[in-house]
Amino acid sequence: MSNHVTAPKGTKDILPADAGRWQHVEAMARELFKAYRYQEIRTPVFESTDLFQRGIGENTDIVGKEMYTFESKSDDPTKRLSLTLRPENTAGVVRAYIQHKLFAQPLPQKLWYTGPMFRYERPQAGRQRQFHQLGVEVLGSDDARWDAEVIVVATDFLARLGLPALEVQLNSVGDDACRPAYRDTLQAYLRSHQDALCENCRTRTEKNPLRVLDCKVPACQPVVQAAPTITENLCDGCRGHQAAVEGYLTAVGVAFKRNDRLVRGLDYYTRTVFEIVSGDLGAQNTVCAGGRYNGLVEELGGPSTPAVGWGLGLERLLMLLPADATPATGLTALIMATHGAAEPVAFRLAHDLRGQGLAIDLANGGKLDKQFKQAERLGARYAVILGEDELAKGVVSIKDLTTREQRSVPLDGVKDALKGAVAGGK
Ligand code: ATP
Ligand code: MG
Repeated sequence: MSNHVTAPKGTKDILPADAGRWQHVEAMARELFKAYRYQEIRTPVFESTDLFQRGIGENTDIVGKEMYTFESKSDDPTKRLSLTLRPENTAGVVRAYIQHKLFAQPLPQKLWYTGPMFRYERPQAGRQRQFHQLGVEVLGSDDARWDAEVIVVATDFLARLGLPALEVQLNSVGDDACRPAYRDTLQAYLRSHQDALCENCRTRTEKNPLRVLDCKVPACQPVVQAAPTITENLCDGCRGHQAAVEGYLTAVGVAFKRNDRLVRGLDYYTRTVFEIVSGDLGAQNTVCAGGRYNGLVEELGGPSTPAVGWGLGLERLLMLLPADATPATGLTALIMATHGAAEPVAFRLAHDLRGQGLAIDLANGGKLDKQFKQAERLGARYAVILGEDELAKGVVSIKDLTTREQRSVPLDGVKDALKGAVAGGK
């Protein structure tokens, strides 16, 4: 197999051995979202390129260099639109919110999503080109309680998965009232320290000065650390909002750390921004990131709609989960036929039992001891044996693979015997 095809760089197969962990995480998320009344939304994996350019901003890494953009097919060249694989899902959710007039429904709309996202990045641990996010968006209220609620949903989720020790970092990036003046102050400061900044930061000074605060280059740190902070430049409205968010978090005992250097890469954030970070992930240590984006819905052509949300990287989350978080496969019984004439009987019995909601599979055949080995390997709870003499009498044997007890049951009584045993937890 020298010329076999492999998965593209930066993508990963999730194989059956690992799928149980993904399902476990997704099931926990669904349960929690139900408790908080978040409803699921599924939007397309590709959208108009224009949506991301307007919704994320031209001066971001995502739009600047990470998008998978292609032209749609059409015989008519004027109809060939530019499309992009979604690099994140807030823009898509907001597009759907506007397109389907969800704003006319009771507000706030509390939505969640999960699915693959695509970014052209250098693959490394915790960084892929196709990765998966889980996310929430609360649209239609600027009340600080929703900023707090989305953070608490995230910390509850992580705690239920057995990961309570992650750190919530919190900041406010201001709003239209105070950020423009701060942006100018910061830009003037950075311009006067260009010599001590990396090339990237020199570009960002002109295009997106707040992003300089996010720079990880060691040489830039003295300038970054001494930079004027947004915190000392917030307007009263933003200050009050931040205090309210912190009050709600404190009310439910969610610990947080103020980080006045925390900014988000996306232009549309206002007021609250936060990240949930782990000390166990190396360079890619942000598991969950989000904030308030009061300007985005209007920016994309909808009615003025304040909103808040987050996105969580599932690959990074799974890196933190121990392998034993995997639930068992849950096979109730493996059906074993000892001879050819029993095969159709076994096939039909399996079909009947599955119809009763039991998890059933057919053994591969061959010698009985090999079939028992297979049952063990699959973690089956019972073996149902269709032997020649037994079938002649209309009975089968059911063996409990935990206690090793075996009993004889009429063929038409297998259903009740297994259902009773499963229900009784035996
Ligand atoms: P980073 O600083 O790690 O590049 P980001 O600011 O680009 O993150 P967001 O756009 O906020 O990330 O996405 C939310 C979350 O999605 C991240 O915190 C991370 O857990 C995950 N994520 C982002 N990009 C990738 C990627 N290329 N591969 C895997 N997970 C990712
Ligand atoms: Mg990134």
